[in-house]
Amino acid sequence: MPKCPKCKTEYEEGAAVCPECGAALPGQQNKLALLTTVESETAFRIIEAKLAQYDIPALMKHKTFGDFMQVLSGTTMYGIDVYVPEPALSLAQSVINEDPG
Ligand SMILES: [Zn+2]
Repeated sequence: MPKCPKCKTEYEEGAAVCPECGAALPGQQNKLALLTTVESETAFRIIEAKLAQYDIPALMKHKTFGDFMQVLSGTTMYGIDVYVPEPALSLAQSVINEDPG
């Protein structure tokens, strides 16, 4: 079995994150799950920073015309979808639902 590049734990083919340490595994970025939708890139960066503490990679995807609206107003009209690797979804949800601060 392939090994985690971070902690060397063996993992099953197809895993998006290491079952031992939660690190993102190479070549397995295709299974993504929608975590939440935020109003601005600033909000996304806050979530991204929280998730980074758990080695969960976060990806943002502007909704339709979001980039265009952001240029005009600084925020998007439609929001930004935040995606995480599907196996890390439940952990990511608990991370972002922690009390702020
Ligand atoms: Zn690992």
